[in-house]
Amino acid sequence: MTSNWAAQRHDCGSTEAGDLTDLDPKHFSTPIGYLSNTGCMQSPLLKNRRLPRHRHGILLAAPWFLMSWGSPSPACAGDTGAAALNLVPRPVHIEVRAETWSLAQSTRIVASGPATPEASKLADALSASPGWRLPVVKESAQPGDIYMSLTAADASLGTEGYRLSVTPNGVSLRALATAGLFYGGVTLRQLLPPEILRTNRVSPAPAGGWRVPCVEIVDSPRFPWRGLLLDPARHFLPPDFVKKFVDVMALHKLNTLQLHLTDDQGWRLEIKKYPRLTQIGSLRKESPRHGDRNRGDGTPYGPFFYIQEQIRDLVAYAQARQVTLVPEIEIPGHFRAALAAHPEFSCTGGPFEVRTRWGIEPDILCPGNDAAVAFAKDVLAEVCELFPSRFIHIGGDEAPRDRWKACPKCQARLKAEGLKNEAQLQTWLNHRLEEFLASKGRRLIGWDEILEGGLTPGAAVMSWRGVEGGIAAAEAGHDVVMSPTTHCYFDYAQAKGPGEPECIGGFIPLAKVYAFEPMPPRLPVDKRRHILGTQGNLWGEFMWTPKDVEYFAFPRAAALAEVAWSASSGRSFSDFLRRLEAHQKRLDQLDVRYRKLDPAALEQGTNP
Ligand SMILES: [Zn+2]
Repeated sequence: MTSNWAAQRHDCGSTEAGDLTDLDPKHFSTPIGYLSNTGCMQSPLLKNRRLPRHRHGILLAAPWFLMSWGSPSPACAGDTGAAALNLVPRPVHIEVRAETWSLAQSTRIVASGPATPEASKLADALSASPGWRLPVVKESAQPGDIYMSLTAADASLGTEGYRLSVTPNGVSLRALATAGLFYGGVTLRQLLPPEILRTNRVSPAPAGGWRVPCVEIVDSPRFPWRGLLLDPARHFLPPDFVKKFVDVMALHKLNTLQLHLTDDQGWRLEIKKYPRLTQIGSLRKESPRHGDRNRGDGTPYGPFFYIQEQIRDLVAYAQARQVTLVPEIEIPGHFRAALAAHPEFSCTGGPFEVRTRWGIEPDILCPGNDAAVAFAKDVLAEVCELFPSRFIHIGGDEAPRDRWKACPKCQARLKAEGLKNEAQLQTWLNHRLEEFLASKGRRLIGWDEILEGGLTPGAAVMSWRGVEGGIAAAEAGHDVVMSPTTHCYFDYAQAKGPGEPECIGGFIPLAKVYAFEPMPPRLPVDKRRHILGTQGNLWGEFMWTPKDVEYFAFPRAAALAEVAWSASSGRSFSDFLRRLEAHQKRLDQLDVRYRKLDPAALEQGTNP
């Protein structure tokens, strides 16, 4: 969370001993860390090639395909190494060949059964820019086709892994599950010219079609949670922007988008049972002023919120792109917008207004009040109806417990439940919420403050005040997402100097994000499965518009995508920068306002 930034500011900008923040190009002497010096990755996985089968075990009748797999690999291209492909994030295994395949209007996508919806999505993605419509057919692949299949042959790659083979005769994309087919499609789109990413027709395809280098790629993610957080509570983000953001996330194989839907400064989610939440809580009298956060701008803000129908639409849109929307409802702190609507759920009774400054709010939910606890459950019930996410985020951070100390109801609860202090009272509340979520088949996740009074049995932790909380939770057998202020707070500045936008403070340049290691080296091997992954947070206090969000997000989110997806071995910042230079053209096509790489620094292999 951001609000106690002032307390953390002396830590977050400094360099931790042992990390790679002070990147020196000489530490990255292998420019393409995952290639052998021939420019050709010899993957052990590729040595045991199996003939493709469909799910009934019958060999496919695609002559070009069998020929391709049955013949020895052509020599690797001498002049087109993997680096030239500029894939972001970097695939696990890649082998580049000299030939090319062309995507043309005559190209068909061959798929059947459960692979068909993914084939249709890929057809959509490959059709918008050139202005044609690739047919999706069931019959056997012919030369030139894209063949997509689900197969258990590569089960070791997991549900998100895929095998992509591009030969002069066609493309074969195989995966265990539809997510893998989707990600293979993302890679194929990155192999094409950036213009293919345009969502509107730009120009006819060149004569002979769009050329793609021939490759063999075997790929799967390192972590299952590859996340970003958007904060429409501080500054509302229209649904169309959230969709665009999901599209850009999917291009980077990021799969989790946490929506911070409620905070002191705004309640942004329609709750049918409590309409006052949005009637009252979705607008504030004014906001902090640009350039002077301690003064108000005098301009009413709102009402802004998502109606439930919009959320359902966003969930479906994200699901189609393998992105899970994780809702965050802040309980018990960051709750002032809710208390403005329902002061009866506070310790003092109010009245309250929606907060007009950033920072930490002393008035929070009263867990001594049964009706307030029931209210929290009612809200979560509607949240569970809207969001199919397995994890429901309850915030839990930055909840000062002073009001609880002075509240007769809270003190009565402490006594009745035999609790030692107010931190345990928060744990008691979390326990009620966790049980409630479990009754709906969901799991509670919260910021690392939920550790303070003792974790509830099934809670997962998002570690933001460094990684220590995450390590403690993982050692105790809890699932963890690493999102520390040292590397993952994308609302901090990414560069110094004039021209950079006002921000909350702090300094996390691109190199520092890229150097992040979510897996603590000292975590015992048997606990490592509890590190689900990592998440970059785009707190919205100083992001007034969607374009501001894009600027703070990219390219740092691209770096985090590689941290979360790619193998840690062979990670090279200078190689990443080279690929990123070309990757910027993809972001251009998607109209993303990213922070451009500094050409001079690029020469040095460091940026900024
Ligand atoms: Zn109370």
